[in-house]
Amino acid sequence: MVVLKFGGTSVSSKKSLEQIRSILAAKKDNFIVVVSAFSNVTNKLEEIVQNALINDSIRIIEEFKGLHLTFINELILIDHQPKLIEHLELKCNELETICKGVNILKELSEKTKAQALSIGEQLSSLIVHQFLNQEKLDIEHIDSCELIIANNSHLKAEVDIEKTSKNIKNFIQKKNYITGGFIAKNKLNEIVVLGRGGSDLTASIYANSIGASSIEIWSDVNGIHSANPKKVKNTLSIDKLSYEEAFEMAYFGAKVLYPPSILPLIKKKIPLYLKNTFYPNHTGTFISSSNHKTNHKIQGLSSLNDIAIITISGIGLSRKKGSARKVFETLEKENVNVILITQSSSEQSIGIGLQSEDAKISKKALDKAFYKEIKNEKIQPIIITDDQCIIALIGD
Ligand code: ASP
Ligand code: MG
Repeated sequence: MVVLKFGGTSVSSKKSLEQIRSILAAKKDNFIVVVSAFSNVTNKLEEIVQNALINDSIRIIEEFKGLHLTFINELILIDHQPKLIEHLELKCNELETICKGVNILKELSEKTKAQALSIGEQLSSLIVHQFLNQEKLDIEHIDSCELIIANNSHLKAEVDIEKTSKNIKNFIQKKNYITGGFIAKNKLNEIVVLGRGGSDLTASIYANSIGASSIEIWSDVNGIHSANPKKVKNTLSIDKLSYEEAFEMAYFGAKVLYPPSILPLIKKKIPLYLKNTFYPNHTGTFISSSNHKTNHKIQGLSSLNDIAIITISGIGLSRKKGSARKVFETLEKENVNVILITQSSSEQSIGIGLQSEDAKISKKALDKAFYKEIKNEKIQPIIITDDQCIIALIGD
């Protein structure tokens, strides 16, 4: 069995859906298709619930509905439209009710936001399913919320791979399936989502669970490039990468792949193809465990923006055991993720790269933790240098 994931732009026009149909029709194996929400829909849903904090969101919900109605009208045969329109209305009513609640309470919890964001994939998967069905493809719809169990956070939930795999293995038969990515349920039966870009992870969870022979992630670019084509001229698309290189490229900004989706594939050595729906003949990028020895030592260059560097320095750090631990412990307590670490060999300074938005609370917490040392001038006042970026050269 193979798993194919199609991103937002790939499912957002009749022409590209016809392309998808022919990609699927050429498969000799059974397959599971994972789709994202239509182009820009998750952003729109975010805007809708965020706006509800201040205004009523009726106008933007109408826009949202109109966009989906256009898809239904363009893609779906007239006889099959009423059922989908009814479902769309149901979801838009749900969205309105959510927004009313948010507006009255002036509070938008992660739980509420996840419920709203999930609507994009719930709708796109049903509409694309109907389209493929009427194009004579034998394919069943699955609700991923019934199979994927994920906990700990509503917006970036962590998949319980054991329970999920069991559910998927029990459910999947020798048939073709389609499902919405990104969405899941937690153990309290609440809807959660897997983080922005999380449909890739859904696909790789299915691939891992069924032991797929391969996974294909189809987007609107020719795989991973040697640098971000939006920032750098004359980039090349990379034809082969190891899992580790692909993870680094994805982590450091290549938006084609959601980094957490690599791990479930490594475990079962499932080869991953990144392909372009709009140029299906382009080889794209092939990622596998056998891609270790390549001609280039360096595969690519990527970057992370919005980084702040915090510097802790002073002779008081030299030869003092446990100062680095104290720094990390302090940041961990504040739930801050450290992205980059440097320590000078004289041990007199520690530099830490983190997301700009975490800089203030980090400095405050470190100031407090090292209050005594700073007061005694063993350590200099802690410095934040904001508006930095991390540039990474990537190679195995
Ligand atoms: N629709 C979600 C997002 O835009 C998930 C995905 O497309 O991967 O982040
Ligand atoms: Mg994506």
